[in-house]
Amino acid sequence: MTKRIVILGAGESGTGAAVLAKKQGFDTFVSDMSFIKDKYKNLLNEKNIPWEEGKHTEEQILNADEIIKSPGIPNNAPLIQKLKAQGTPIISEIEFAGRYTNAKMICVTGSNGKTTTTSLIYHIFKKAGLNVGLAGNIGKSLAYQVAECNYDYYIIELSSFQLDNMYKFHANIAVLMNITPDHLDRYDYQMQNYIDAKFRIIQNQTDNDAFIFWNDDPVIQKELHKYGMHGHYYPFAEEKEDGVAAFTENDKIYFTQPIAFNMEEEELALTGTHNLFNSMAAGISANIAGIRKACIREALSDFKGVEHRLEKVARVRGVDYINDSKATNVNSCWYALKSMKTKTILILGGKDKGNDYNEIADLVREKCVGLIFLGLHNEKLHDFFKGFGLPIADTKSMKDAVDAAYKMAKNGETVLLSPCCASFDLFKSYEDRGNQFKQYVNEL
Ligand code: ADP
Repeated sequence: MTKRIVILGAGESGTGAAVLAKKQGFDTFVSDMSFIKDKYKNLLNEKNIPWEEGKHTEEQILNADEIIKSPGIPNNAPLIQKLKAQGTPIISEIEFAGRYTNAKMICVTGSNGKTTTTSLIYHIFKKAGLNVGLAGNIGKSLAYQVAECNYDYYIIELSSFQLDNMYKFHANIAVLMNITPDHLDRYDYQMQNYIDAKFRIIQNQTDNDAFIFWNDDPVIQKELHKYGMHGHYYPFAEEKEDGVAAFTENDKIYFTQPIAFNMEEEELALTGTHNLFNSMAAGISANIAGIRKACIREALSDFKGVEHRLEKVARVRGVDYINDSKATNVNSCWYALKSMKTKTILILGGKDKGNDYNEIADLVREKCVGLIFLGLHNEKLHDFFKGFGLPIADTKSMKDAVDAAYKMAKNGETVLLSPCCASFDLFKSYEDRGNQFKQYVNEL
């Protein structure tokens, strides 16, 4: 009998998985508890794939031989519990797609820096003329590309949720940027569960594979020995350390292996310490893939950056406005503040995920000349920052926040939107929040 594959969630990854499952000849069905976007409905219809929305019909789902689950659906959802109880295998779209391609997989995970590093690696590979696809949380899903394209390499951004349901998938190059607390609500509030999910990126690696990671991350260092690893190590660090594959010294960035070369830090397109790490990880990946050093240097210098990540918006009356709307946790705001070269007015707030603002307290004292709180509930921010002696504005819309920043900022200063929080209290998404910021800044 034909194997039945049921896909739960019809977003980019679910629809892609359905297209691939159908192409492979499986009995395919798609079910989404909420409403499916028109573009995905059209694609499913075009491919003759049956689907339902606004419900999960159990008779159509519990009879599956295998389930492909969207990373957005938590493991404790009742339907998932039922499927688990009856022993139905549940995998992620990436796991599924990995079965049907021999392309080389370069996979990036971490708490922060995934999208930037993934996009940067893609940029270098593309520039080198390789036949490469970009997948995971960005752009088209891996499954869709495996079904419809024929790439030799995929650069894939993997969240911990995607890694959760990966078992046999094998990364030829695995990149682990850092591990700081995030999404703990999905991991029974156990940091170890989140760490284990991140380390799944190296499961199934062989001696021929590579593992690139930030050597100075205390969590990675502590956990490294636990996971029987086979791949070759390529650690990177801010300063020179034994055995690292990249480091900085005297304003230069040095790559040591497989091919040694260096470049001026000043030439890097992306600024700030965190981006130094992102550039190192990307440079090492390209170096391992055999891309020429001249090409790597050039690509690291002409990369255009990714929207909503320390994105320069405009200079208005001598004040720079920077959109870092993707900074949805405290750690990413820390790096954003650290990279500020002028006095800064920080716009922060939103849906708090159990934030501890102590992490940014010193940098706020050192760099900030004003704070603008932007959220439905700003009390926690007031409580924490009230003793800092800084002017504070309380706002509940982006227009008010930008107006308040405009009034507060003096010539030569910077206004930074780096909210530390998710956006869902006032905005549709972090993209919506960043776009509104840009719109109101451009109207100043
Ligand atoms: P992710 O995809 O992991 O969310 P992004 O590349 O989208 O990461 O960057 C999100 C935010 O995290 C950025 O706005 C920036 O402030 C911060 N950031 C980027 N790279 C790093 C890094 N290597 N370490 C810490 N913070 C980072």
